Amino acid sequence: MPTVVIIDDVATNRAIYSRVTRSIQADIRVQTFETPLKALTWLNEHEADLIIADYKMPGMSGADFVRRFRAHGHRLEIPVIVITAYDDREFRCAALEAGATDFLHSPVDHSEFQTRVRNLLKLSLHQKMVQRRADALAEELKQSQLSRDQALRDSRERLAQVIDTIPAMISATDKQGHCIFVSAYMAALGGLNPAEVLDHELPALFGQEHQDYHRKLDKVVFQSGEVVGGIEENVVDRFGNGLTFITTKSPLRSSSGEINGVLTTSLDITDRKRAETRLAYLAHHDHLTTLPNRAFLHERLEEALARTRASQGVFALFFIDLDRFKSVNDGLGHFSGDLLLRAVSDRVRRSVRDDDIVVRLGGDEFAVLQTQIAGAEDAAAMACRINDVLDEPFIVGGREITMNASIGIALHPNDGETAEELLQNADLAMYRVKVSGRRGYQFFSPDMLTRAQSSISLQSDLRRAIADNQLVLYYQPQINLATGKIIGAEALVRWLRPDGEVMLPASFLSAAEESGLILPINEWALREACRQASRWMHAEFPAVRVAVNVSSMQFRGENLCSLVTGVLDSTGLPPSLLELELTETILLEHAQAASADLEELRRRGVRVAIDDFGTGQSSLSHLKSIRVDRLKIDRSFVHGLDSGMPDDAVIVRAIVGLGRDMKIEVLAEGVETAGQARYLQSEGCDLIQGFYYSAPLNVADFEALLTGEVQTWRPASSDLSVY
Ligand code: C2E
Ligand code: MG
Ligand code: MG
Repeated sequence: MPTVVIIDDVATNRAIYSRVTRSIQADIRVQTFETPLKALTWLNEHEADLIIADYKMPGMSGADFVRRFRAHGHRLEIPVIVITAYDDREFRCAALEAGATDFLHSPVDHSEFQTRVRNLLKLSLHQKMVQRRADALAEELKQSQLSRDQALRDSRERLAQVIDTIPAMISATDKQGHCIFVSAYMAALGGLNPAEVLDHELPALFGQEHQDYHRKLDKVVFQSGEVVGGIEENVVDRFGNGLTFITTKSPLRSSSGEINGVLTTSLDITDRKRAETRLAYLAHHDHLTTLPNRAFLHERLEEALARTRASQGVFALFFIDLDRFKSVNDGLGHFSGDLLLRAVSDRVRRSVRDDDIVVRLGGDEFAVLQTQIAGAEDAAAMACRINDVLDEPFIVGGREITMNASIGIALHPNDGETAEELLQNADLAMYRVKVSGRRGYQFFSPDMLTRAQSSISLQSDLRRAIADNQLVLYYQPQINLATGKIIGAEALVRWLRPDGEVMLPASFLSAAEESGLILPINEWALREACRQASRWMHAEFPAVRVAVNVSSMQFRGENLCSLVTGVLDSTGLPPSLLELELTETILLEHAQAASADLEELRRRGVRVAIDDFGTGQSSLSHLKSIRVDRLKIDRSFVHGLDSGMPDDAVIVRAIVGLGRDMKIEVLAEGVETAGQARYLQSEGCDLIQGFYYSAPLNVADFEALLTGEVQTWRPASSDLSVY
């Protein structure tokens, strides 16, 4: 009759555990104790087959109890289950170190309790049986007075005992394939009766194929006399559980050195394998979208490279970056941003074939590895498909959001030999899509690389330029058409290179945007323009308002409002003498951040102008939501006025009309000729800025113009490039 000992200081627990234990098997004897000390005293005198102990008990923890119990060598094989609260990971580790066999979580699930207790009890009984057999064998040997040396026998017995405490399948077979030893664990796992299998063939525990394979390996060991190790085996046991073992086979030799058996040791590494698989999954997958990640892509790319090297095939790597994701994330919050990323990844996944791989590289960047393609047309078709599926609006948190992507494609073998090269080139191609207006795709071409490299060296030059004060501001006057007076000036940055060359913003601002250098540049330009305007005001020059250009990056994270107020305070410039120029694109991309900041600045008296008006999208809808003081008609429309472009005349008339209706001043940029100025005046445009009156000027020249020393600074057409 098996005996189960239950130790818990709570009487109800003792009662419940006893009842459930008794329900396992009719003839179980249950002994309960309310303290570990009482149990230990009892165990000194009696035998138990299984012990169940609570972890938190007065006077002694579950771990201490196990340690004291295990201190008696002969009790090593008796299983001890420790009951811990669900998240007591530390306690579990402590109990495990002390020698606990298994755990149960409290509150205890009855059926789990039954299964564990039943299995461990069975194991314990089997071990006891093997032990008894070993004892009997030892007794037999002693009685038959075989000419064996006592010391050797003792050590063998001890060895058998030790072996039976190891949770591993250990067996030994002789040359005929007959079993000469089977460990307690293996007997328990295979439901074997050691007495019946000894001297017989071991039954095929994991199927005939597995058995035959082991026979073959045994033969190898017999023939070679060498150890065969590290064999990982996946098997299914008789209950249908998948198990993984790592098996070693070594020769057993007689005292004369002849091989008379093979010892097979199989360690159950199922749990370790499971943990490894889970870790591998986590290491290769993105938590949010469940898509594979960059590390996974790298491995697949390496495989694809190896495959195509052998077969001369072609494959495509797509670098996908969502357009304006950041503003959605900032505007709607990260939770909605996450939902959107998931929705996007689902759509992309659905628009590729099963054997193509979609991964999330991080943030709003994805990649697709399209294998087995005939050529660029297949890749182009897939890029179109992806753009098309993203066109359909997304519904996130009850809101409709439109979101598309810029896609760069690199083809192997033409566009790269290594995974890194392909990824980098696809990224460069993606970047070209962004620059040329987003949504769409482009294939990599080598000139993109040259461009990127020169942009990098430009960035480092520019960094030095900022440090060495090579940047200066030029001022271009803005004229009231009715009075002919200068009412303000736009501050325009110039880079005076050490070699004397004057560089215009067009040649370095995009590199500055890319590298983030635009932030210090703009901050400097704002401070410098305000300082200059304040100086003019105090030196009693005619009042001029300075207009400073703002870039989109200044709405990302940085607080434009506090920057501007700080600069105004430190330079002493009245807010009404500062105008900020923003493009429609900025307003579109950063509608939320911009409207709050601009509203606050306008309240303080700073003026706001929309630059390059007419070139962006949905200008009118934004004029409604963000109030501005001035529209600057883009110079491309002004240019068409006297070069016979009737559409431009219509657009200019419409913008001037719009300004009049909305009571917003209108300024025409890039006015170069008397004809253009006359047309603008006749349409009722208030202000002009352009070479017709003056090019952008350095401070000294601009001051000469202000004081009336000179009338105009019209550049000769050959000089235009200097300004
Ligand atoms: P923008 O704000 O539209 O500035 C007007 C541009 O038109 C200036 O070019 C100016 O020199 C040019 N321009 C003025 N009158 C005429 C004309 O009659 N004909 C022609 N063809 N062009 C004329 P610039 O100085 O090369 O600046 C180009 C752009 O660079 C500016 O366009 C502005 O967006 C940006 N930028 C300039 N300085 C800064 C700055 O400090 N910060 C930022 N973020 N951007 C700046
Ligand atoms: Mg401007
Ligand atoms: Mg402009």
